[in-house]
Amino acid sequence: MRIGSLAGVEPEALRFAHTVLMAGTIASGAELRIEVVIASFFCESCQQGFDSEQGDCLCFRCGSFSRRLLQGRELELTSLELS
Ligand SMILES: [Zn+2]
Repeated sequence: MRIGSLAGVEPEALRFAHTVLMAGTIASGAELRIEVVIASFFCESCQQGFDSEQGDCLCFRCGSFSRRLLQGRELELTSLELS
């Protein structure tokens, strides 16, 4: 799964829920792989993107406020392997 840092989902909470929900089912022991996507914004002043680990939208170069989120709200199932 890909989870954006601004998706509002705590990866550790998701991991815990996954373990609890899968216990006792045929999916028990299924492995959950989580890739956290760091939020990034586009600065109109600098005409460049910037990453924001804390999720704040102030450009670290010029201090401008950015309203263009490039990534960080993902909550995607990227692959499913069955065996
Ligand atoms: Zn900037």
